[in-house]
Amino acid sequence: MKKISIITLGCKVNQVESEDIAEKLEADGYDVSMGLVQSDIYIINTCAVTNEAERKSRGIITKVLKINPNAKIYVCGCSSENDASKFNKGEFVKGIIGTQNKMSLIEMIENDDEDFIKNNSLKTIARVTDRTRATLWVQNGCNNFCTYCLIPYLRGREVSFPLSEIKKQIDTLSLQANEIVIAGINLSAYGKDLGNNDGLIEIARLFKNKKTRFRFSSLEVNIITNKFLKELSEYNNFCEHFHLSLQSGSDNTLKKMNRHYTKSEYLDKVNLIRKYFPNAGITTDIIIGFPTETNDDFNESLDFVKQVNFSSMHIFPYSIRSGTVAATFKNVATNVPERVKTMTETANIMKSNFIENNINTTHEVVIENEKDGYFMAHTKNFILCYIKSDTPLKPNQILNVRLLKPYIDGAIAEII
Ligand code: SF4
Repeated sequence: MKKISIITLGCKVNQVESEDIAEKLEADGYDVSMGLVQSDIYIINTCAVTNEAERKSRGIITKVLKINPNAKIYVCGCSSENDASKFNKGEFVKGIIGTQNKMSLIEMIENDDEDFIKNNSLKTIARVTDRTRATLWVQNGCNNFCTYCLIPYLRGREVSFPLSEIKKQIDTLSLQANEIVIAGINLSAYGKDLGNNDGLIEIARLFKNKKTRFRFSSLEVNIITNKFLKELSEYNNFCEHFHLSLQSGSDNTLKKMNRHYTKSEYLDKVNLIRKYFPNAGITTDIIIGFPTETNDDFNESLDFVKQVNFSSMHIFPYSIRSGTVAATFKNVATNVPERVKTMTETANIMKSNFIENNINTTHEVVIENEKDGYFMAHTKNFILCYIKSDTPLKPNQILNVRLLKPYIDGAIAEII
């Protein structure tokens, strides 16, 4: 059993979030400890309240490497939100996110953990329920063979779970949770191995006449068509949040990554989404410092993400995976920490603009938990809301709110 340590700096919010992450990792079979102890994997939940807190947060990396020079390190929190490049100190730092959606670290860790993948090969449909949001895994495997990724070798080819079984799970889960996230290793391929090219549309249809809202986890551009979007636009309970995997905004790099689209095709799909869902949250993953990524490629990528205008981005410094095609490429990428910093600054500006553009608009939310006197919830387009209420709100409660002003990584909202 792999050991994971979570090191938490700063406020009570960080502590509560670290406990949530620990609980989920334990449920997934990891041996989790809190604090700086001998482990295989470390999560550093950072703080930026003062310069000293930021310095301490960065110093934890050195301390971890003294205990285990082969540690895999994941960083989240206010200090990495502030400047991710300061944490990109070498190949042992496997993932860096900011303050939003810290639970996504779990997905990063599990996707990067060969033992976990081998032992959890998702032979059947899987469901995970937290207090308000259920995740339903409907598909396993991937046929894409992106050159940086080991998943197709570890999880094998695409396998979709039967729609009848998914229906049963949705019927049960929707009695417990008011939001269901439909997930898969390559979710956009759902149904193809069963001879069905409209698999995700058929899953959406299972939500007809249900109060429970639904969200797709991560999608590839090929799934975005008029037919798909038109169908989704007919459901009031669809969450207009598209996590559309980009990985690079440079055509050269995309080719080397074996991603089967150009940036202009990607942009066409984004424009199509905005035609049906003008206020959609469009988020993505991007890899910085892919071995063939020159400075020009990086600048092209940076210009492109600005053109798309994402509402939020997960930024990953490239991490070599032996056994992949990319591991054999000559590495010409330089200044990777600076690139991460520049991309993070751009991502933060775009995210602030998106939140700003939603101020004074009304949204449906599902209450998740309470932190520091606020009730926390996400809008359908995935803005984190901080809600003040004199009367207690319960997890899973559905409410309508108006966004009042930007706050930390989201917005203060009032109940209407
Ligand atoms: S990164 Fe590429 S190969 Fe890896 S799981 Fe995603 S689509 Fe498949």
